[in-house]
Order: sequence, then C-alpha cells, then structure tokens
Amino acid sequence: MSQKISGVKGMNDILPPDSRIWRRVESAAREVFDRFGYEEIRTPIVEDTALFVRGVGEGTDIVGKEMYTFEDKSGRSLSLRPEGTAPAARAYIEHSVHNLEPVTHWFYIGPMFRYERMKTGRYRQFWQIGAEAFGVKEPAQDVELMDLVVQFLRALQVPNVSLSINSLGDDACRPKYLAALVDYLSRHRDALCAECRERIDRNPLRVLDCKNEGCRRVTQGAPSILEFLCGPCRAHFDEVKRQLSLLGLKYEVDPRMARGLDYYTRTAFEFIAEHPSLGTASAVGGGGRYDKLVSSLGGLEIPAVGFALGVDRICLLLSEQPHADRAPDLFIATADDKAKDEALKLVSSLRREGFRIEFDGRGGSLKSQMKRADKSLARFALVLGENELTMRAAQLKPLRGGEPKSVSLDALPAALSAS
Ligand code: AMP
Repeated sequence: MSQKISGVKGMNDILPPDSRIWRRVESAAREVFDRFGYEEIRTPIVEDTALFVRGVGEGTDIVGKEMYTFEDKSGRSLSLRPEGTAPAARAYIEHSVHNLEPVTHWFYIGPMFRYERMKTGRYRQFWQIGAEAFGVKEPAQDVELMDLVVQFLRALQVPNVSLSINSLGDDACRPKYLAALVDYLSRHRDALCAECRERIDRNPLRVLDCKNEGCRRVTQGAPSILEFLCGPCRAHFDEVKRQLSLLGLKYEVDPRMARGLDYYTRTAFEFIAEHPSLGTASAVGGGGRYDKLVSSLGGLEIPAVGFALGVDRICLLLSEQPHADRAPDLFIATADDKAKDEALKLVSSLRREGFRIEFDGRGGSLKSQMKRADKSLARFALVLGENELTMRAAQLKPLRGGEPKSVSLDALPAALSAS
C-alpha cells in the first residue's frame, strides 16, 4: 500500500452529518440576505498581494504574518484571500458599480485563509459569510447590517450572542487618539508582551485586543478613543446607539474594541458568543465602517460598511443543538433481480416528482434490505417482486408504526403525498 496523504494542517474536511449544519447556516443566510435585498458576489480566492497590503494594511497581523503568499509562474506575487472586504471593494471599483447604482448591497459566502496558530474555532482555512454596503454614509446603514446579523443568528437559534460596539473615529480625530495611546503604551512598555512591544509602533490599536494578562492590565488604564471623538464622529456614534435602541437591539459599548484591520473608520462592532464549545475563540463575527477603503484602492470617495461572520464557529455552536433533517420518503427494496429494472424506473420517476427515495443497488436478501430501510429512517418501505410487477401494485409499509396498505404503483406519488 502507498503512503497515506493527509489534509493540510488547519484546513478541515466538512463531512456529513456536519455538512448538513453548514447547509442550514448557508441557506438561512441566503434567506435573510434576500429579505434585506443583498445580492451575492463570488470573487476569486486568489488576489494580487498588493490588494491586501494596501487594503487591509501592512502593519496588521493578517497581512504582516498570516497571509499565504506565493509567486505564480510569471513571478507575480499572489495571496490566498485572508478576508472578503478588500476583494469586494476591488470588484466594486473594477466594474465601476457606482456608475450603475448609487447604493450597492452585496453578500458573499466562501473560504478565507490565514496562517494562524490553531485551536478550537481557529483554523487556517475558515469560512466567512459577509456583507458589504457601498454608498451610504448614514448611521442607518450600520444599524441595518447589525439588525441583519441579529435576525440571521435568531433564525438559526444561535444561543447567547451579545453585540459590542465602538467608534474608531476618523482621520480628523483618530491621529490624536493614536498619539495619546502610543504615549501611554510606551510608558508601560516593560509590562507588555514582546509582540505588543513591537506593535506600539506598527499597529498600536492591536495591543488593545491582546489576550495576555499583563497586556490586559495595562490596556485597562489606556485612554479610550471615545474621549477623543470629533463632533461628526460622536454624532454618528450617538445616532447608531439611538437607532439600535429604537429597534430593540441590545448592545454594549466596548471602548477598547479595535478590530484587527486598518481600514475601519467610525463604527466597529463585534458579535460574541460565550460558550464552552468555542473556548477563547468567542467572536462569531464583526464588522464596521470603512469610508476610506474604496478611495485608498483607487476608487472614488465612497462610504461603505460591512461585516463578516465565522461559519466554522457558528456551526460549532449549532452542532450541540438537536435538529430534524428531512428523512427519506420511501425505501424501495427488490425481491429478485428481475424487479431491479422496474425499481430503477420507479425510483427515478418518483425522484423527478420531488420525493426523496432511497434505493440500495446492491440488492441482497429481503431481510438485509429491510434492515437498511430501518437504518435509513425512511417513512415507508415498499418491496417490488414478480407479484407486484404483475399486479402493478405493492404494499406500502409505514416504518414508524401503522398498518401497511396496498397501493397501485401509478398512485404512489398521491399515496406518499397524502400520508
Ligand atoms: P475578523 O474580520 O478577522 O474579525 O473575522 C470575522 C470573523 O471570522 C471572526 O469573528 C471569526 O468568527 C471568524 N474568523 C476569523 N479568523 C478565523 C479563523 N482563523 N478560524 C475560524 N474563524 C475565524
């Protein structure tokens, strides 16, 4: 036997029965996006490395440390996408979408790649469901996206999720805050972990996210961005809070939430699920406003706001919930080889009519086929043999209690629908 080849570390196979949960999550997302008027985009998994360097930011951990970057055969530097917003903005600019419509509402579902240290809920290939809204600078757009996430999580009955919000200011007020933060962190440099000491100059906001005990003690006393907001940013933040309350959406203000990406301006938000199955990977999603991203990638000054949710984490949370899956309507067994052709035709025509039919092409003894029928959890079983073919009728046997009844083969669809 040849040597086994394993999958790549941190990149998971999603097999049944888990894949059923994934499908449920994806179809709930599509249903909610439809209700809110968001259209699907599918961008390539690979992009020019410069897109992320410029869009996400060179100083971020995602770009600085976690990207899968390689050269293609022509020596071009490409990267597996670590997130979906920069590609969406690139596509928005490239196809001049702003010329076609003043407001654009998009969603995507797909895999992202980050070379991260792995643990439960944190992988190197993970899936995100995300949305981007281009063209609206008003707080109502931020709130619509948060409402959308809440409705989606509610539809799936994801338990115990809380919403945290913050404002990250804009070009007018953030520089003053960053200067105060850098000054504070520099004074406490010795109490920070090695990584955060390096972050003071590279990406000081990221220090606020560090989970290290020492760093947390330091950041508790750090200045808060909320004390530095300029008038327009404060007004925007106040309006977001007012509208969240108007819709009855509960939230907490977390003045130290920074999010890991450089492109955010003003609103930032995060959905956190405290649940043992996630360990410390408790963020199920996050997002924010990125009014400068489109122009920094060569487009016009177009305001935008978006979010991304972690599908792997949502599925982990749902995997503990019982859920009913659609059972087969009918298991068809064959008494002998002669009945097989007729069974094949019957199976195909019932499936064409929309019924879920199980048929085991191996045949075998009736006893073993009926065991398989039980295992399939089908509602009914039916045996086809010489008699049944002559009579064009068979016994429809309920597998979960009830009396068998004789049904003409032509009337099977009606009999299955009626019961
Ligand atoms: P981010 O924009 O980096 O905050 O990512 C948004 C969401 O994607 C997070 O809240 C997580 O639910 C999910 N996510 C991010 N990175 C990973 C990862 N390495 N593995 C699994 N899920 C992730």
